[in-house]
Amino acid sequence: MKVLVTGGAGYIGSAVVHQLVAGGDEVVVFDNLTQGHRAAVHPDAVLIEGDLSERGAIDAALSEHRPEGILHFASHTLVGESMEFPFRHLGNNVRCGLNLLESAVDHGVRRFILSSTANLFGQPDRDLIDEETTISPGSPYGESKFILERILHWMDDRFGMRYAALRYFNACGALSPDLGEDHDPETHLIPLVLQVALGQREHVTIFGDDYDTPDGTCIRDYVHVADLADAHIRALHALDGGSRTYNLGSGTGFSVREVIETCRAVTGHAIPATVGPRRPGDPAVLVASSERIRGELGWSPRYDDLRTIVESAWAWHQSHPRGYGDRAPHAS
Ligand code: UDP
Repeated sequence: MKVLVTGGAGYIGSAVVHQLVAGGDEVVVFDNLTQGHRAAVHPDAVLIEGDLSERGAIDAALSEHRPEGILHFASHTLVGESMEFPFRHLGNNVRCGLNLLESAVDHGVRRFILSSTANLFGQPDRDLIDEETTISPGSPYGESKFILERILHWMDDRFGMRYAALRYFNACGALSPDLGEDHDPETHLIPLVLQVALGQREHVTIFGDDYDTPDGTCIRDYVHVADLADAHIRALHALDGGSRTYNLGSGTGFSVREVIETCRAVTGHAIPATVGPRRPGDPAVLVASSERIRGELGWSPRYDDLRTIVESAWAWHQSHPRGYGDRAPHAS
């Protein structure tokens, strides 16, 4: 299938592009490279440097390449930033998504995959989160994704757009030692902890150890980026059977302390950790029930072992201590 991937130069998007190309799909990446990296784009994919805020640029890409499907990753994703600058996330993510969808409808594209988020569930009322769990987004970022899910519902109803909304829990790991996570600023736990092992940070701060969990630190569901990529490809090829929404996690939770311990074991570094205050908005436990996608698409995570996940991330960080190396010199 020929597909257009927005954000295909980013962490998750680039991993999906690599898997699509490996499976024989033809890929056009549409990315403005503000967060993505040219070096992360598969060499066999076409790269269009474009911005989703410009409807004309999307129209041109769809007219020229005529994809059968679109996978939409490009967005502002930082939860904390979205609390500070809600218009950036609500405005930009929704406007850009609408531009893309309107253009898709006009160009006859009827398959769409949305990268959605566990942040839709805010402070969930249960520990194992399935698709029936009450939606109450925890931030403007989560709300922007929920709005896009609802818009897709109507695109299906009105235009027969078949879509899959995939709600990721904690994406992590690296597809290969040459394709990994490189954010600026970095806010995610595993890369931050590994930066301590690389000597780039003095210590890691644990955001609260007084939660109602066995060791007092937050529990999250860490799902490997290769497993996420596999889920996208299965969802894309299943769309003719109808639209669908899935929660995507490994179904197993690990605490912040367990993650740090595993990073110590993998790297052999002491990784000093200090306890700081809770981070506002963090739920104690966030673990997905992925029963629906397991049952319907036969998906199951191959990397449900935290050690293997951290080993893959560590291989990437060791071989690319400065990420893709395309940051401005002041960035850390
Ligand atoms: N966390 C932490 N220290 C850090 C970064 C994250 O203790 O420097 C915790 C955070 O509170 C959460 C977990 O690690 O419980 C995972 O956070 P991350 O930002 O990676 O993903 P999120 O769960 O927010 O999507």
